[in-house]
Amino acid sequence: MEQDKSSVFVTEAALPPEETFLEHMRGILRSRQFTNHGALVARLERQLRDFLGLPRLDVCSNGTAALQLAIRVLGLNGKKVITTPFTYVASVTSLLWENCEPVFADIDPGTLCIDPVQVEACLEKHPDAAGILPVHVYGNACAVSELAGIAAARGARLLYDGAHAFGSRLAGKSLLAYGDAATCSFHATKIFHTAEGGCVVTHTAEEENRLWLLRAFGQRGEKYFCPGINAKMSELNAAMGLSLLPEMPRRLQKLARLAAIYDEALHMGSSPLLRSVQIAPGLAWNHAYYPIILASSRLLERVLAALAAQDIHPRRYFYPAMTKLPYIHNQSCPVAEDICQRVLCLPFWADMPESLPLRVAEIVRKAIEA
Ligand SMILES: *Cc1c(COP(=O)(O)O)cnc(C)c1O
Repeated sequence: MEQDKSSVFVTEAALPPEETFLEHMRGILRSRQFTNHGALVARLERQLRDFLGLPRLDVCSNGTAALQLAIRVLGLNGKKVITTPFTYVASVTSLLWENCEPVFADIDPGTLCIDPVQVEACLEKHPDAAGILPVHVYGNACAVSELAGIAAARGARLLYDGAHAFGSRLAGKSLLAYGDAATCSFHATKIFHTAEGGCVVTHTAEEENRLWLLRAFGQRGEKYFCPGINAKMSELNAAMGLSLLPEMPRRLQKLARLAAIYDEALHMGSSPLLRSVQIAPGLAWNHAYYPIILASSRLLERVLAALAAQDIHPRRYFYPAMTKLPYIHNQSCPVAEDICQRVLCLPFWADMPESLPLRVAEIVRKAIEA
């Protein structure tokens, strides 16, 4: 379907400064090195390590590959793993693709991240679970201290899906610093992107070395160590990241300002029919998304219809709960299944005009009050 110019969607991909991007692309054409850990990928990795303060951050082809690589680096492939039903499907397909058995633990209704009490209960029931895969939903922070305590007590490995976590900081550190390993996605719809891309954060030389091998066929030089895969980032993707990274401090500030405009225009906190996600205490949130939680699914349908009438298309993110996937059987998480029915991510990106959140908020408010 042809998309009308005036249509508004949940996000628009960030554009790099054009001349910077083209200069990188011309450099690639001159060098004829398109991939295999070329100069731009190496430079992007260095700049990301500095920007995020993560010395063992390594980039790869996308956020799903990042998860699959990390699952193997931590030795979780083929094992039972506790995870959250409130996420994008890639968290779950990564586990299934690595022959893991996902066991779903319900979420905290405030933060929408996995509930440590439910994780404990799951581990009690499944003492053979070898790992925990929580998700920093919308860039919000999971209960990292509680989860670290539980994982340590049970000898389970803790892998965070930090696909949304770029730029969020907790206790002076990037949110991606937490856990035994963490992943991020640099997909075009994420706040920092390389068109397609992602990264894995590890914490020991041995694990980082294993990641390098797995990412490139299990080969180093003329030696073949293990059956790896090809999950390398190309130079073209790195060019996008190098062009956008210097913009990130400004873009993060812009997102915080736009979120404040939404909060005020929606009179957030004053209506029992509408609430926001509870942000973890002490988190410097990246404002990766602007999620709202309606009081009922009927109300959500009404808001959706009112916005659609103005050619505005927010996203039901996440919907449905992962326990409702056709290939997941006999698992239920009532809190997540309920919230999935009435959560919405409103149009939100750093370059949106400040008039847009005002316009969207007015339509939402009228629909709620109707
Ligand atoms: C986007 C996303 C992924 C997958 O990342 P890709 O780069 O698109 O493969 C995984 N988990 C979550 C929570 C995501 O939002």
